[in-house]
Amino acid sequence: MSTHTQTGRDATEVEIREAERVLSLTPFQQRGHPSTVAADHSQLSHINTYGGLPEFYLDQPFTCRKCGKREIWKARDQKWYYEVAKGHIDARAVECHDCRAAKKRGET
Ligand SMILES: [Zn+2]
Repeated sequence: MSTHTQTGRDATEVEIREAERVLSLTPFQQRGHPSTVAADHSQLSHINTYGGLPEFYLDQPFTCRKCGKREIWKARDQKWYYEVAKGHIDARAVECHDCRAAKKRGET
């Protein structure tokens, strides 16, 4: 069983290219894409932002700053981070799953 598309971990080139393509679309096109997750503003009251709250979340490809691995910060995971974990709106994924797991285990 593959969990790639669920977590963004070990994202394939195809998945990363598709995520980059979606990021380049218009907001109207992005809203209709299956990977897009709607934001719930009632869960974002901890966020003070001058730029306005996001209407939805999009899969965000990124390169791990530690090991250089390419992964995707999934829209679903962003929603959890911002709305459940009450994360800072300017926070971005900077390390891959493996590097964060190693940090949690105290290996770095
Ligand atoms: Zn890494």
